[in-house]
Amino acid sequence: MQNPNKTANSKTSFLPMGVFLGFVLSITVVFFICVFRDIEKNVQDTVISNLEHQSQNFQNIINQHFQYIEGIAAHIGEQDELTDSKNLELLATMSEKSTMNRMVIIDSEGNGYYPDGNKRFVGSNEFFQKAMNGERAFSEPLESNIDGELCIVLATPIFRGDKVIGVLGGSCNLSTLANMLLVDTYSGSGAVMIVDSDGTVIARVADERMSDLINYESNFFYQMYNVKLPKAKSRNAVMEDFSAQSNDLFTLTYRKRQYYMAYQPLNLDEWMLCYLVPRTVARSSYQFIIRYGIVLCTALILGISALLLTILLSTNRTQAELLEMGQSDLLTGMLNKKSTEEMIQQWLDCEQRIGLQAFVMIDIDHFKEVNDTYGHAVGDEILREVSNIIRQEFREGDVIGRLGGDEFCILMKNIVSDTNAIAKVKTLHESIRTHSFPSLGEDGRVTCSIGVSFAPMYGNSFDELYHTADQALYKTKKGGRDGFSIYDSKMA
Ligand code: GH3
Ligand code: MG
Repeated sequence: MQNPNKTANSKTSFLPMGVFLGFVLSITVVFFICVFRDIEKNVQDTVISNLEHQSQNFQNIINQHFQYIEGIAAHIGEQDELTDSKNLELLATMSEKSTMNRMVIIDSEGNGYYPDGNKRFVGSNEFFQKAMNGERAFSEPLESNIDGELCIVLATPIFRGDKVIGVLGGSCNLSTLANMLLVDTYSGSGAVMIVDSDGTVIARVADERMSDLINYESNFFYQMYNVKLPKAKSRNAVMEDFSAQSNDLFTLTYRKRQYYMAYQPLNLDEWMLCYLVPRTVARSSYQFIIRYGIVLCTALILGISALLLTILLSTNRTQAELLEMGQSDLLTGMLNKKSTEEMIQQWLDCEQRIGLQAFVMIDIDHFKEVNDTYGHAVGDEILREVSNIIRQEFREGDVIGRLGGDEFCILMKNIVSDTNAIAKVKTLHESIRTHSFPSLGEDGRVTCSIGVSFAPMYGNSFDELYHTADQALYKTKKGGRDGFSIYDSKMA
């Protein structure tokens, strides 16, 4: 039968544990939120700094190309004749040595002289006009008439003294330039492109997954209909950024994969440098933190669970031990008077009680004399031995207790018949009187008197049964002890 105190105690011991567990879990959750937020920030910062680095890189490459043709232009300017064969041979040699695949000397009239002997009028190009004004200039992306690929023409003035006498142009393949940017960045995953402010893809390098999204044929802004943009960033907002030459970074989804999209102006003819980096790739260097985090978290949860379980079990054990101590008689280990009374009463009140119940009271005969003759310690020893004999005789489910002094009591539950119970009592009486108690000398014996009463005939409560059984016991004592009596209504 459940003890209500025990349930209440368990509940109260769960509360601090729950609070502790909740605290640890909250701390862990907050910790991981902070870690993930910082990782996200660092990853985005790295994407932006890579973009800046690449933008700077691109400008340096263009600058180097300009310096290269400026060196040649200075040499050409020193020659007597601008377009003589020496200069054109020089151009042919220098083209082979550099990434500029075609060079041209343009005279002040706008006639272009190519090293292969070709001549073409290019004077109407904007870059020519600008270079004739003494400035560096470059063309719109043009389709090369050598290989059909997109290229740009870098143009620099050819000076003789302070006077511009012509222009030197050199074309660069834009794919080659873009490839220079991509080398080693995010192991070639995602895409890097140069996009004009109107969305024209000028140069691009893309991995397999992105190649159909980022292509020369379509306008990049149109292609953005194929990606899922974040709520905070519309397609129009991106277009505005491009025309305002401002930078940004956000996350978009393309074919169920998340990408960081970052862009910033290249400071060249309103061109924008754009990155599309897979989020997983950008975060890969932080993956180990997430792995260790999961290991740490699992270890933490297991450790805390083990700790709580241990505390819980030991608390429950302590409670059970305390409860048992409170219920038992310290000398014999039997139930003490209070709990014997409670348990018998509970049984008599419960529904499992069916039919006949026998209430047996045992009192050792002349026990005072045992104490007086052999001492109190020996008396205790006898009480322990008698209690063991009683325990052996009855079923586990029966209530067996010491009511005090040399008095014991048993409630035999749901017995088949009174004769059955009487037979058991007889055996018990015999077992005690024939038992040899070595502490009382070689043939040490004790006898006992027993009184028996039955429920429901002679009582339905502990007090009633105690009273009637006590009367039967009194009868045994009066009749000369060392025997047993069964209560009947004549004794009342
Ligand atoms: P009766 O035959 O009438 O039962 O006489 P009795 O001497 O056994 O006297 P009674 O049952 O009335 O008293 C029981 C005695 O048991 C009283 C006391 O000296 C002794 N006693 C009570 N508790 C303890 C105990 O814990 N240890 C020991 N050694 N003796 C106890
Ligand atoms: Mg006695």
